[in-house]
Amino acid sequence: MSIRKAEPFKIKMVEPIRMISREEREKALIEAGYNPFALRAEDVYIDLLTDSGTGAMSDAQWAGMMVADESYAGSKSFYKLEASVQDIIGYKYVIPAHQGRGAEQVVFPSLIKNKGDYVLGNMHFDTTKAHIEIAGGRAVNMIADKAYDTTTYDDFKGDFDLEKLEAFIKEKGVEKIGLIVVTVTCNSAGGQPVSMANIRGVKAIADKYGIKVIIDAARYAENAYFIKMRESGYQEKSIREIVREMFGYADGFTMSAKKDGLVNMGGLIGIKEDEELYTLCRSTIVPLEGFPTYGGLSGRDMEALAVGMQEGIELDYLEYRIEQVKYLGDRLVEAGVPIQYPTGGHAVFVDCKKICPHIPYDEFPAQAVCNAVYLEAGVRPVEIGSFLLGRDPDTGENLESPLELMRLTIPRRVYTNRHMDVVADAVIAVFKNAEKLVGLEFAYEPKVLRHFTAKLRPVK
Ligand SMILES: *Cc1c(COP(=O)(O)O)cnc(C)c1O
Repeated sequence: MSIRKAEPFKIKMVEPIRMISREEREKALIEAGYNPFALRAEDVYIDLLTDSGTGAMSDAQWAGMMVADESYAGSKSFYKLEASVQDIIGYKYVIPAHQGRGAEQVVFPSLIKNKGDYVLGNMHFDTTKAHIEIAGGRAVNMIADKAYDTTTYDDFKGDFDLEKLEAFIKEKGVEKIGLIVVTVTCNSAGGQPVSMANIRGVKAIADKYGIKVIIDAARYAENAYFIKMRESGYQEKSIREIVREMFGYADGFTMSAKKDGLVNMGGLIGIKEDEELYTLCRSTIVPLEGFPTYGGLSGRDMEALAVGMQEGIELDYLEYRIEQVKYLGDRLVEAGVPIQYPTGGHAVFVDCKKICPHIPYDEFPAQAVCNAVYLEAGVRPVEIGSFLLGRDPDTGENLESPLELMRLTIPRRVYTNRHMDVVADAVIAVFKNAEKLVGLEFAYEPKVLRHFTAKLRPVK
């Protein structure tokens, strides 16, 4: 008999959660303007809004916080963090930032030399795209078409289309290319991994034209785990070896440490060896994030991250992590619920265009499904579709997203598979009665980033 593996930890501190009654959930959702972002967290039973900063820290991380050094400059905790990151990634220079976007606002202006320069990525994350544009660059996605096909299995749906990438560089001229950003795993494509062969291919093209490569490294450890599981030639390699190889193909990275760094707040900049870039970043970070040995973090944040970095690449942890997300995905697939397949690293993405063909895109089918899942069992998912996408700035028309997705994002080390069963049961129940769901219209629509604060109501 084979022994099943369970969570590679036991629980020594608990935070009570409770499911409020159906009537209370209905009231809470109306008060939130049919927008789960506006719910109070205490009215949520299982919170799958995001995996960012929502993980549970270990006893070793909490212990680190007690011995942290809060010196403004040259803190002991900074040197511990620097050593931990150097140990894993192998880069010479490490600068902390308050979170991923803090790292982005320092690095991108340092690399985008001319207004209008293109920044080529597999699929840019939204804050990354914003910081590229603030720095005067133009963000272009070069992801392979397989990412948009939710039903066909592929090992690496986060891959670049390398032919498209090189053709674009040739067409625009290399002097118009600012840099290449490789996002691992590719969050916006459903947490889908990028293969080592593809990263190597990006590096070969970058070298041929003398272009710098930056890794958007929020989920680098999850990406390394997928490479170990799926890419031929990597089964015998350790996660550490795979991580080293991945980062060997880049010149630097920006990282939101709120994901694989296993902390509630934090970010990192890493630079392989380019002293000029490091010097520039070290001075521009001062007015933005803070002195380069703290970058917006307290000593205890850096201490927790130094430990979290090491825990985030442990094989037992990664196996538990990826398997838990897959467990939820498999339960939905078994019940016939259409999802982005295979399941990605940090979330299950449910294809709501397929579930609610009767709701037009500008009545936000995925938002309707999210709300129904909250009403069913107090589970909070998030919409990734036309509601998030917004309006065309020129015509004012609602843009139509290619995919209408409900994202069930799993926090790290927080919920058990029993919680995943509750989530699966709720989604399956909603799926079975989906023809009864109705679309939504605006009661209040803010001008920018509407999905955070808009108020909606069901269409009559
Ligand atoms: C979360 C994330 C960011 C931004 O990081 P924050 O810590 O939220 O500022 C950037 N890129 C990717 C791929 C992310 O997932």
